[in-house]
Amino acid sequence: MKAAPEAQRRLLDLQAIDTSLAQLAHRKRTLPELAEIDAVARELSALEDERVRAQVAVDDLDRDISRYEKDIEQVRVRKDRDQQRLEAGGALREIEGLQHELATLNRRQSELEDAELELMEQREAAEQTLNAVLQRLAEAGARRAAAEQRRDEAYAEIAKEQEFKSSARGPLAADLPPDLLSLYDKIREDSGLGAALVRSGRCGGCRIELYGADLARVKAAPADEVVRCEECRRIMVRTPESGL
Ligand SMILES: [Zn+2]
Repeated sequence: MKAAPEAQRRLLDLQAIDTSLAQLAHRKRTLPELAEIDAVARELSALEDERVRAQVAVDDLDRDISRYEKDIEQVRVRKDRDQQRLEAGGALREIEGLQHELATLNRRQSELEDAELELMEQREAAEQTLNAVLQRLAEAGARRAAAEQRRDEAYAEIAKEQEFKSSARGPLAADLPPDLLSLYDKIREDSGLGAALVRSGRCGGCRIELYGADLARVKAAPADEVVRCEECRRIMVRTPESGL
């Protein structure tokens, strides 16, 4: 392939822009915020499981406590009824029966109240656990929001630089001979680098020194010949600083 030496040299400017664009794309893919957001998402998911378990524990205790409340209320109702019947008076045997039942009901009420009190203490502890999980969820959520904001700011900055580089690339690429540009683009898509300056007798792409017949071939090539590296196949751009 033939191309004016000036066009070949402009490939280096194009390559500089493409390298910047590749670096920006790499920066976008590897932002530390992305790993941070992933880690917080895993943390939030584990905390959400913990929250559900803690909430279930509180709900279970609430259900048990309200069951005790009902039982205690039933005992109170029976005690009031017995008390009224006792006050109304009656046969001795009936009064003794009522007194015996009242004593039993008092014991029963006392047992139920003790058991309820114990559950209420357990509920208090369960609620503290739940509140601690909710607190950690809120903290992790805030960390995620902050990381997402930093990610979006970095994305916006990268997009601005990408736009700037792309707007410079357009006219530069449009100015190059189409066959040279398409060869360059093809090599660049394969390896990230389409053209490199030969410097001090070395290919700028793979840094391998030219020697022997290869060096002779490159030296003998006319200035408008598009020369490619035998090793990495990249376009070798030659200038007076190439050391040939
Ligand atoms: Zn090379």
